[in-house]
Amino acid sequence: MAINLRTLLILCALQWRCSNGLPEMIPIGGLFHPSDDKQEIAFRYAVEKINSDRAILPRSKLSAQIEKIPPQDSFHASKKVCHLLRTGVAAIFGPQSAHTASHVQSICDTMEIPHLETRWDYRLRRESCLVNLYPHPTTLSKAYVDLVKAWGWKSFTIIYENNEGLVRLQELLKAHGPYEFPITVRQLGEGNDYRPLLKQIKNSAESHIVLDCSTQRIYDVLKQAQQIGMMSDYHSYLLTSLDLHGVDLEEFKYGGTNITAFRLVDPEGPEVRKITRDWNLGMDAKNKKDFPLMNRDNETFVKAETALMYDAVHLFAKALHDLDTSQQIDIKPLSCDAVDFWPHGYSLINYMKVVEMRGLTGIIKFDHQGFRSDFVLDIIELTREGLKKIGTWNSSEGVNFTRTYGEAYTQIVEIIQNKTFVVTTILSAPYVMRKEASEKLIGNAQFEGYAVDLIHEISRVLGFNYTIKLAPDGRYGSLNRETNEWDGMIRELLDQKADLAIADLTITYDREQAVDFTMPFMNLGISILYRKPIKQPPNLFSFLSPLSLDVWIYMATAYLGVSVLLFILARFTPYEWHNPHPCNPNPDHLENQFSLNNCMWFAIGSLMQQGCDFLPKAVSTRMVAGMWWFFTLIMISSYTANLAAFLTVERMDSPIESAEDLAKQTKIKYGALRGGSTVAFFRDSNFSTYQRMWAFMESQRPSVFTSSNHEGVEQVVKGKGGYAFLMESTSIEYVIERNCELTQVGGMLDSKGYGIAMPPNSPFRTAISGAILKLQEEGKLHILKTRWWKEKRGGGACRDDTTKTSSTANELGLANVGGVFVVLMGGMGVACVIAVCEFVWKSRKVAVEERWLFGQSLPEKVKPLEDFEPTTSKFPPN
Ligand code: GLU
Repeated sequence: MAINLRTLLILCALQWRCSNGLPEMIPIGGLFHPSDDKQEIAFRYAVEKINSDRAILPRSKLSAQIEKIPPQDSFHASKKVCHLLRTGVAAIFGPQSAHTASHVQSICDTMEIPHLETRWDYRLRRESCLVNLYPHPTTLSKAYVDLVKAWGWKSFTIIYENNEGLVRLQELLKAHGPYEFPITVRQLGEGNDYRPLLKQIKNSAESHIVLDCSTQRIYDVLKQAQQIGMMSDYHSYLLTSLDLHGVDLEEFKYGGTNITAFRLVDPEGPEVRKITRDWNLGMDAKNKKDFPLMNRDNETFVKAETALMYDAVHLFAKALHDLDTSQQIDIKPLSCDAVDFWPHGYSLINYMKVVEMRGLTGIIKFDHQGFRSDFVLDIIELTREGLKKIGTWNSSEGVNFTRTYGEAYTQIVEIIQNKTFVVTTILSAPYVMRKEASEKLIGNAQFEGYAVDLIHEISRVLGFNYTIKLAPDGRYGSLNRETNEWDGMIRELLDQKADLAIADLTITYDREQAVDFTMPFMNLGISILYRKPIKQPPNLFSFLSPLSLDVWIYMATAYLGVSVLLFILARFTPYEWHNPHPCNPNPDHLENQFSLNNCMWFAIGSLMQQGCDFLPKAVSTRMVAGMWWFFTLIMISSYTANLAAFLTVERMDSPIESAEDLAKQTKIKYGALRGGSTVAFFRDSNFSTYQRMWAFMESQRPSVFTSSNHEGVEQVVKGKGGYAFLMESTSIEYVIERNCELTQVGGMLDSKGYGIAMPPNSPFRTAISGAILKLQEEGKLHILKTRWWKEKRGGGACRDDTTKTSSTANELGLANVGGVFVVLMGGMGVACVIAVCEFVWKSRKVAVEERWLFGQSLPEKVKPLEDFEPTTSKFPPN
């Protein structure tokens, strides 16, 4: 019977072995420091959960063997590990401290016991028995680089706590090229007062900060930054802690500071919420007080490392389950003193490395080196409602912002609605002027103008309040290249004494590097303000004006040429010779009425539209006369028409018509507003004319630069033509509407716009740009411009004047009347040909009649010319 019972028990045992390769109880060891309560709780909780769910290990149970070790005592740690191994464990979890972990690791490696860690470890090579669920620092560092690049931060300051921080941020330091803006690296001091360091950073005007410190110190650093004014709308913080959700950020929610971080665990995830609830319920009040997982609301929160511990136990259980289907597993007590190892250790480790599962920290997967891969980090930002997820990061795709543009815009608009902006400006008509009133005005009511109305309209669109404040030095803002300091309104923005700068402030490249600008609300260009051209007194010889000098000379030449040609052709053609005594059919001589004198008289008579008492008879001479009459007809009509125009238009004397004219001369001085964008345009121009103008302006003593536009206008008025002011076209438009002595000379030398400036990194830029666009589309900007340029403060005074000067008359040049000369010359050529034909025809006729040989008649005919007897000829009469 006894044998039978033994056999039965053996059979039963064999039966159980065949159906399940795992023992019923699997002990796992946890090594925790006294400060790692949260790790221990997560460890125990995970074990309990696996045991109660039975989903992963249906027939086995895990048993947690916990050992407490001091964080710096590696000897103690080794002893505790050996103790655990002696009792028989399937894996060792922890500890968190680097000092003790390495000893534990080497023992585990020797004994081939799986070692699971959840701590930050920067080593690039990992031991074969180790699985660390904490993402490798190099990968995390890439996430910071990607985010900083996505934001386009050009410069930033890194505040770090210890050397680990520098390792964490090494990729960020490496990614910053030598030719980029400098980055500053500062270490947090030992004590609790970070204010001196933060003040130095504040003075450097840096608004982008990367803060790497332990989660416990984050609140203090931010609080002290707030105390010294480094938690404004324009500051951005990137925190490297993965546990920002455990920091009490209530006091910073409304400051408008951009606080961003990554997180591995989503505290709003269903499983995390359940765990948090369980832990909250499972703790009594006393425990809660000392519980290190508490945030300031006395709520537990799941830290990244805690969640990783939970995931590590699950990973182990999953690997164990997978291994169970392929081999028989025994838990074996091992002695540190003997050369011994656990035969299933490596298999288990290998299973863990190929397992792919979802835990509290997302997808748990390892690459061939044993580092976490394909994990996703949430990008979280502090908003009024607390921390909000605004995007994700993963190693293959980098940063992916999930917040839509509309959501971001709405959030900004909500923030703006409770703000009172300080608006810096300067007095410059018609943008900002002091209001004229009998009683003393205070606050915003003291000012009026285009810019004042504009900010009022924008505030109505976005719903904010504002206080107008004049810049103390009354300057727009220019960079002193020696001290590298800005002045004027730009300085006010950089010092964060103002939130917005509204005036006729030009958007320039230099300024854009220092501050942020909205889209332009007005477009303009540089032009010249000068006195109007003076009316010329009537000229005694103004009748000469309709034709240019060369036309007059050509006309005189044409007159002489036509007269001489007429004389020659009249001599040449036989048909201009007539019998002085018609009763005598065979006169001794023939007469020709076209003497040189008569030809000139005939030509001048025709030119003056008077005619004369003798006229040509031959076709050739008539051709000459006809062409000359045509010529005179056109010339006289053109002259008359242009003379009429000249007599009705007032002649103006304008010594300069353009910037080139100004550059060419030195008699008229010219200047611009000191420290403004106009001066910067000439100073930085590569165009030779403007370089010459800049050299001229700089060389002038006394200085030609003014401290305001108003002073420039006064100088032009007082200069009486001796001073021209280079000014922006919109301001010129305003001045010439009111001061009728002045005008704009020439066109615009460039094209630019006025914008609203704000401190760098301002979150309100998009919203304010949007408001400007809205006002523009509604036509409000146009209405404001008409109001302040044409209507208020004496606008429209010079409107009649401006129309009068626009018409002009120009003298006619050769280009206008040259064709008439060509026709005249053509006509003269034709006349010459006709004259030759006439001569030949007559000679032939005479030869036939008198039976001469054709060749013999020529000497006879030429004779009168040879004799040079102008009025007689031996030609036979017709
Ligand atoms: N609008 C100019 C500026 O912002 C000032 C006037 C000028 O330079 O002509 O600097």
